[in-house]
Amino acid sequence: MPLTLYNTLTKTREKFIPLKDKTVGLYTCGPTVYNYMHIGNLRSFLFEDILKRTLLFNGYKVKHVMNITDVGHLTSDADVGEDKMLQGARRENKTVWQIADFYTKAFQQDSKKMNLLPANKICKATAHIKEQIAMIKILEKKGYTYVSGGNVYFNTSKANDYGKLTRLNFNVDSQARVEKDDNKKNMHDFVVWFTKSKFQEQEMKWNSPWGFGYPGWHIECSAMATKYLGKQFDIHCGGIDHIPVHHTNEIAQSEAANGTKPWVKYWLHNEFLVLSGGEKMAKSKENFLTLSAFEQKGYNPLDFRYFCLGTHYRKQLMFSDEALEGAKAARKRVVETFLELQKTGKNDLQKQKKYLQHFTDDINDDLNTPKALAVVWDVLKDDLLNDKDKYSLLLKFDTVLGLNLHKVKKEKLIIPKDVKQLAEQRLLARNNKNWKKADQLREKIKELGFIIGDTKEGYEITKNRDFQ
Ligand code: AMP
Ligand code: ZN
Repeated sequence: MPLTLYNTLTKTREKFIPLKDKTVGLYTCGPTVYNYMHIGNLRSFLFEDILKRTLLFNGYKVKHVMNITDVGHLTSDADVGEDKMLQGARRENKTVWQIADFYTKAFQQDSKKMNLLPANKICKATAHIKEQIAMIKILEKKGYTYVSGGNVYFNTSKANDYGKLTRLNFNVDSQARVEKDDNKKNMHDFVVWFTKSKFQEQEMKWNSPWGFGYPGWHIECSAMATKYLGKQFDIHCGGIDHIPVHHTNEIAQSEAANGTKPWVKYWLHNEFLVLSGGEKMAKSKENFLTLSAFEQKGYNPLDFRYFCLGTHYRKQLMFSDEALEGAKAARKRVVETFLELQKTGKNDLQKQKKYLQHFTDDINDDLNTPKALAVVWDVLKDDLLNDKDKYSLLLKFDTVLGLNLHKVKKEKLIIPKDVKQLAEQRLLARNNKNWKKADQLREKIKELGFIIGDTKEGYEITKNRDFQ
């Protein structure tokens, strides 16, 4: 099956045909670095990783650009509230620059642990102020902007197809998200350059033709994507929350400035990771879980990867401890079975063909990872397939699934005596409800290179990232 993707712009599944030969331009909206990434954000980056790996699997070259938002993303996606970076700075009593640096590194560490392929170009908004000003100047020259109340606005009434990315109930959907602002000419107009903050204390400011200030959030993606991928490119991604405001505004200003329609051929969006009860995980709420929290509990980051692969990216993914535990057990079984395979003997390509076809059909069917995972199990369970064929097939599949199978090593876990003793002491402390002592012992065990997790039977000791 040829690669088929659901395009939010046309609201249909479409056969993927790149704009130019075999090189695909891919832009993914990156993190706002004012806090750790929560596992919902990581779901989004994982979906983009699967997309990129699937393109590579299909023989395309991919030029992947991702931004780091380190200025201008206000506490609402529209123009309301203060800069999220400032919130982070106040919370931790640091400068916004220190916050950006710290959380960018934390994001990169999480990405590595999740085995996400790095983007070819990672670009910070604050390092591209010149490009953003240049784009606003073009918009101004073409008559798409106006200055009001000290800020520069994009005039959405000048873009005759404004809002084409959203669904038909666009007005209802986005009305709640737009700010009542007497300086605006039209309800959906948005700021491209602020000289007059709508809040105090914005630390990051630059000179511009419109005065000392800072860019609106959306202009960074338009300016950087255009700079690195050109005036038209193939695919742009993000979470569904970006459809009504951020991506809608990116399209309006990019098409206006570049004069190219469509600016991007395929728009892909992932659904949310939610908590039981359907609540969206968000950095602004106190409900967010991080990858490090999972590691503390004895999970490998790839357990979370496996967990996400079990649900299609356009479906909501409900998080629960039990479901993650199930993913952990399943990944462990895949790894253990893979390690038992004998690598000697000959490949029988004819026998492999059927499974390769199934896998390709599933992953090319709008990135159907749950079905692709099922093929992994079909291969492992097929008694008529020899070990060498199973081994080769799994390695091929893993170029897409990214479970790092080529790196796993057979290693017998030897638990030193002192670690065992500490684990027993910790169990005793837990039985006595002495949580403080139990936590201290967990830290001591960690310092010795092991992770202790709690089970119904008592505890389980694993090596820190034993399967990587
Ligand atoms: P941010 O760092 O807030 O700019 O978000 C990074 C990415 O995570 C964006 O593509 C968001 O759309 C996406 N995202 C935010 N919350 C969730 C969630 N609960 N589930 C899945 N994706 C999310
Ligand atoms: Zn963006």
